[in-house]
Amino acid sequence: MGIVDEDVARVRQNTDIVALVTQYSQLRRVGQRWVGICPFHAEKSPSFSVNQTEGLYHCFGCKASGDAITFLRQIEHLDFVDAVESLAAKAGIPLRYTERGGGEDRRQRNRLFDVMEKAVDWYHQRLRTSPDAAGARGYLRSRGFDADEVARYSIGWAPSGWDELTRALKLSKDDLESTGLGMLNKRNRLQDFFRSRVLFPIYDEQGRPIGFGGRKLPDTDGPKYQNSRDNMLYHKSKALYGLNWAKSDVVASNEVVICEGYTDVIGFARAGVPRAIATCGTALTEDHVRLLSRFTRRMVLAYDADEAGQSASERVYAWEKSHDVGFWVVDLPAGVDPDDLARDDPEALQAAVADARPFLEFRVARALASGDLDTAEGRARAADAALAVVAEHPDALVVDQYLMELADSTRIEVARLRERLDEVKRRPRDSGPRDAGSRDPGSRELGHRDQYPTDEPPEGAAGLPPLPTGAEREALRLAVQNPAVAKATLEVSLFAHPTARAAWEALANTDSLVEALDVAPPEVAEELTRLSVEDLETEATAVLSRLATEVGRAELIELELEARSAEDPLAYSESIGYLKVTLDELRRPFVGAEIVTELLDWLKLRRT
Ligand code: ZN
Repeated sequence: MGIVDEDVARVRQNTDIVALVTQYSQLRRVGQRWVGICPFHAEKSPSFSVNQTEGLYHCFGCKASGDAITFLRQIEHLDFVDAVESLAAKAGIPLRYTERGGGEDRRQRNRLFDVMEKAVDWYHQRLRTSPDAAGARGYLRSRGFDADEVARYSIGWAPSGWDELTRALKLSKDDLESTGLGMLNKRNRLQDFFRSRVLFPIYDEQGRPIGFGGRKLPDTDGPKYQNSRDNMLYHKSKALYGLNWAKSDVVASNEVVICEGYTDVIGFARAGVPRAIATCGTALTEDHVRLLSRFTRRMVLAYDADEAGQSASERVYAWEKSHDVGFWVVDLPAGVDPDDLARDDPEALQAAVADARPFLEFRVARALASGDLDTAEGRARAADAALAVVAEHPDALVVDQYLMELADSTRIEVARLRERLDEVKRRPRDSGPRDAGSRDPGSRELGHRDQYPTDEPPEGAAGLPPLPTGAEREALRLAVQNPAVAKATLEVSLFAHPTARAAWEALANTDSLVEALDVAPPEVAEELTRLSVEDLETEATAVLSRLATEVGRAELIELELEARSAEDPLAYSESIGYLKVTLDELRRPFVGAEIVTELLDWLKLRRT
């Protein structure tokens, strides 16, 4: 991390997180916590919660979560060291830097940005002046690019030689590999990654170059697009082409246009819509949505009509809910790219953006268009296709409104449609109606044009399941907020849920919540942070009693099963008797702490 751990810890301890958050959002005290409107997402009722003692925050709406350092990083778009430096300056804490590892990382990152700047320049000059770039210049001209645009977007040309960039910039193996600009080839020679391609530099939202999108010239071999691989600077699940240029217009117009290609972004700007961005060879991810939601709530998809119609609707609805954003769709003529339309008819492109329709409305219209509304059979088919789309929406009120509109356009009674909707919902997704060209509507990811290479692993493939509500969760909340009591009475054998076990291990093996957050897997750290800002509604004994009851009941079932198949069932009667009596005791109001502790100890012993 670059700064001595001890100093980072001092900065954390000496930063009043309530004072920090208050600079961005008003907080008021509620019991032990502070609550307010979340500064990371738009909301009307407060779901942002701060634990001042532990220095942690969590938003129950958008799930933003962390400590003072993460807060400052997220809200000011700073990197770790910048955020720590800024808080240290306010708290008057001098910082010591580590020689290796972190400080090194930071220096290296800055050096890599320099390397990337030089590469952008070198490729750009090559495009402008080199005879071997004549084909590339011709291609760009044919796509409507003028010299100003080539300069504004720093478009470049990667020559066909094996190692021209590497030699010209005298790049080391480390530089090449850390920036994705090159690699060691099979013959143990350094080689450029991009060759014979028109290059579109990709910048982070602060305007620092992080990667390239490379397009091959028409009538040459290879995939149409080749993008930087993930490296120290570039993560395709987060990178958005054009955000550095678009962000001011996104904020001013309160809308971002999401498209699929570099040339689409430039086409939109040319057509007077300078608020378009593109994902870089990947589907839209939650990280993208999170980043964009800091600039606007209105996400307008400008994909090819087929793509947009088949977008992963479940994800869209989930993101709409968790990030409080809305998705609209630009209705582009089939088979027409924004880039084409920008050249041929810029006004039509502007109008299409202005007329964007809400995501579900767009999909329903497409489904209806798949049937012939002039015949009874056609209307029935169209209704079925539309119902399959409507059924995916999680909000019953929204669903109801669409049912009424469907009843109008298909001349089928609402009640009948509602019955049919229930049938559709019960039907497994894969056997849904597929007539009239409506392919499996929920299966496609957002913005996957086929020519883009897609090699990312599925999101959330690994990891622990979320922690369900119940006795184990309450016990963990107690452990987070009152560690002394919890640590004296609980141990890992009392937890059954894998996430609860991992959370307990992290707490039990460290001396503070902050340390536990460091050692825990990310999803567990998030649960723990969340637990730290929740209200501790019940007193410790009640929480422990609930856990003891739950574990005790499970143990009782276990014992009775064992007894049934044992040679000497009577040997179990004492244990079974004790458990039954004690569990009965625990059902009474005002249970004493001793009996709970005794049962927990007994259970721990049985489980070791
Ligand atoms: Zn939030």
